[in-house]
Amino acid sequence: MKEVLDRALRVQDIDLCDHCLGRLFAQVGTGTTNLNRGQELRALIDQDRASRGLGPMRHTRCSVCAELFDQVPRFAGAVALKLQEVECDNFLVGTRVDPIVQAREEGLWSIVGQEHAEPIKSELNREIGKAVSALNGKEVEFKNPQVVALVDTRFAHVELDVAPLFIYGRYRKLSREIPQTKWPCRACQGKGCPRCANTGKMYATSVQEQIGDVLLPYAKAKEHFFHGMGREDIDALMLGTGRPFVIELSSPVIRHLDLPALEREINERGKGLVEVEGLRPSDREEVRRVKNATPEKEYRAQVAIHGKVNKERVDEVLRTFNRTRIVQRTPVRVAHRRADLERERHIVYVVLEDFQGDRMTLRLRTESGTYVKEFVHGDQGRTQPNLSEMLGVPCTVEALDVIGVIDSSEG
Ligand SMILES: [Zn+2]
Ligand SMILES: [Zn+2]
Repeated sequence: MKEVLDRALRVQDIDLCDHCLGRLFAQVGTGTTNLNRGQELRALIDQDRASRGLGPMRHTRCSVCAELFDQVPRFAGAVALKLQEVECDNFLVGTRVDPIVQAREEGLWSIVGQEHAEPIKSELNREIGKAVSALNGKEVEFKNPQVVALVDTRFAHVELDVAPLFIYGRYRKLSREIPQTKWPCRACQGKGCPRCANTGKMYATSVQEQIGDVLLPYAKAKEHFFHGMGREDIDALMLGTGRPFVIELSSPVIRHLDLPALEREINERGKGLVEVEGLRPSDREEVRRVKNATPEKEYRAQVAIHGKVNKERVDEVLRTFNRTRIVQRTPVRVAHRRADLERERHIVYVVLEDFQGDRMTLRLRTESGTYVKEFVHGDQGRTQPNLSEMLGVPCTVEALDVIGVIDSSEG
């Protein structure tokens, strides 16, 4: 305490409020406020001055903050009012402070040292936050606030930065005509042109729009963004238990949605196109998990056989693919937009579900990222080994559906 007093005495001739005096030693001890620290230090300084026959430390208008802390109740009132514009359970306050005030504070640090000090912004954030809590009964949340209220202390102006709303679910895609995500028209980049009939889109709808367009008005949000655990080709169905996704709604006014009711509405409006299940609240962490996941996938493939082969031979060949590795060079059909690489992929199993001479139905499970069509037709030898070569007759995939996305983290 002796060292703190010695340092505090260096500012005894500067006009400071108790907040700004106490804040110079904010890191000394806990369980008190800068205001209390300032009051205690002022008393000690005044004692010291009295022992030297001097009057008390002078204070009329703080030379650092110009009595900014007197305005905390006014700032808090403005924040509480502004927060009524959105639904939130918690919030965080941020402040913009006049750079001149910050420069004056740094001037003090050069006199007493910076090691115990706290910047004025963080005290203002905390004090306004406490005052807002007292007004609206909501909690200050530091890690993941639903709303950040940014106060410009020069004008008591408040802006809100509303965190997005995240909803997790699984979807089934029942149409071979629609993509997973909204796809802007290639000709006009979304502005609208004759080619897209002024829709700005390549496709009339998508999984994303079937889900997001229902949720958006209920959340009174600005935009939706779709994060799928991988994606299927446009002409593939997504069946079975569906594919995990998280949909993100930006700047929502409403955060508490009746998800079971919305699930019914999405399914009603999406009849024959898209179905969802298991909607529940999610967060940004889960977006990361969903996007980085490498789930095994289960497929059903309708395959055309362009030649003669019997069922026994097919069964025999399929067995050789159980738990094997194949090497795939980037397929010809995507080579224009992906780097030409060789990847090793794991085939878990391939089973014959139906055989009719010139056609067959296969069910297969493969590692994430396997090109199934290329595994079947061989892609001019770019996939090795491949089904066509092993059978000795060319085979092509007529229809490919995803029937399972094995999200191991779901158990
Ligand atoms: Zn002050
Ligand atoms: Zn267009």
